Amino acid sequence: MHDKTLAELSTGLAGREFSSRELTTETLKRIAALNGKLNAFITITEERALAEADAADARRAAGETGPLLGIPIGHKDIFCTKGVRTSCGSRMLDNFIAPYDATVVTTLGQAGMVTVGKTNMDEFAMGSSSETSFYGPVRNPWDLNAVPGGSSGGSAAAVAARLVSVATGTDTGGSIRQPAALCGITGIKPSYGRVSRYGMIAFASSLDQGGPLAQNAMDCAMLLGAMAGFDPKDSTSLEQPVPDYTANIDAPLAGLRIGLPREYFGEGLDARVDAVIQEAVQTLQRLGAVVKQISLPNTNLAIPTYYVLAPAEASSNLARYDGVRYGYRCEKPRDLQDLYTRSRSEGFGAEVKRRIMIGTYTLSAGYYDAYYLKAQQLRRLISNDFRLAFEEVDVIIGPTSPTVAFNIGEKTADPVTMYLSDIYTIAVNLAGLPGLSMPVGFVNGRPVGLQIIGSYLREGQLLNIAHRYQQETDWHKKMPSGMLG
Ligand code: GLN
Repeated sequence: MHDKTLAELSTGLAGREFSSRELTTETLKRIAALNGKLNAFITITEERALAEADAADARRAAGETGPLLGIPIGHKDIFCTKGVRTSCGSRMLDNFIAPYDATVVTTLGQAGMVTVGKTNMDEFAMGSSSETSFYGPVRNPWDLNAVPGGSSGGSAAAVAARLVSVATGTDTGGSIRQPAALCGITGIKPSYGRVSRYGMIAFASSLDQGGPLAQNAMDCAMLLGAMAGFDPKDSTSLEQPVPDYTANIDAPLAGLRIGLPREYFGEGLDARVDAVIQEAVQTLQRLGAVVKQISLPNTNLAIPTYYVLAPAEASSNLARYDGVRYGYRCEKPRDLQDLYTRSRSEGFGAEVKRRIMIGTYTLSAGYYDAYYLKAQQLRRLISNDFRLAFEEVDVIIGPTSPTVAFNIGEKTADPVTMYLSDIYTIAVNLAGLPGLSMPVGFVNGRPVGLQIIGSYLREGQLLNIAHRYQQETDWHKKMPSGMLG
């Protein structure tokens, strides 16, 4: 049962092949058996899960239907869950029991989904490897010595190891797409504003966006349809109807115009990854797509721009963790200053502190114009690159990550090398566009992800392309079973 997709589980529940209680019990067993190896979950919510499963079974017995009714899900530990520890991967929030549910959690709960636990992540979603968590690194189910990518690495590893069929993630600069790529699964970062950020712990508010991680595009479409939508509690939420993402997912690709940005295939891209991507592009061509080379000339500015803006926003968002209202508080503070200083020094890890210091610096009076303001101007140039490209092509395609999964510990000593892992994903957040990653092959037994970037609110088109590709290939069906017994 564990290897079934969301769609298959949904059919099984509807046909009374098994109950949500049975499915949830199986899921909890598999998590208990394998989480020790993977460290994908920080918290397992067994009691809540069984109660929700029983409630879903009762709703079904009363005649209710619904594709998500009774399906287990893992939530990234950045989404607030009422009565359940919500740590954001940080010692700062290790003792934080959220008093309310994030909108995403509420909405999926109303659709009947069963929360089985909270998934591990880089501390405050800052990272590309899921190694900065207070709860220790997550391991990649394809190779336990490899990172799963980050920051939604726990969610990606959980789906790849088939602990759950679907999980939620968030993406500020690549944190859904990059771990999806490194773990061989499918994930989509929606357009900015598509999914509510209410109750999603803030990292960089103008970039953060929640989305689904799943085995394939169809499952992402099913989950995204339930996650997306206007939320009056999030002032940047879009007041736009949510299409049925599964409705046209099968549409033929004939005539689809794909752009390959020359800047995404240059220096820094592993040649073996390049070869796998080229093969996937050929498959899309066979399906009727027309491929053309394009240019996104400001690509090299994406990382420096992001690493000014994201830390700036983070430094102000994280100012709330002061040891006073909630979260970690140091022992025996001498005075208020000591309380602030020690609570923050002891509660935050090294990467979070680095970002807070960079952000505070770039926002300070003497440097604001030179850094923050400049970065905002560059952000506009980067968005313009995409705007112009979408006058020529329908979607942009390239690798999600320049390399396959690297080894645990390989990049921790050099933060800049780590930041370069997001070279192809970050610009998409700066422009607020949707981006999807799907598995298209392997290099040395580690998965390769292909990224599809769309114009604003074109999530449906990305899912359609990925789904058509997945009808033709079976990369998304490969499972890291050898490793997990
Ligand atoms: N790796 C990027 C960072 O460290 C992006 C993280 C994310 O998308 N949450 O900021």
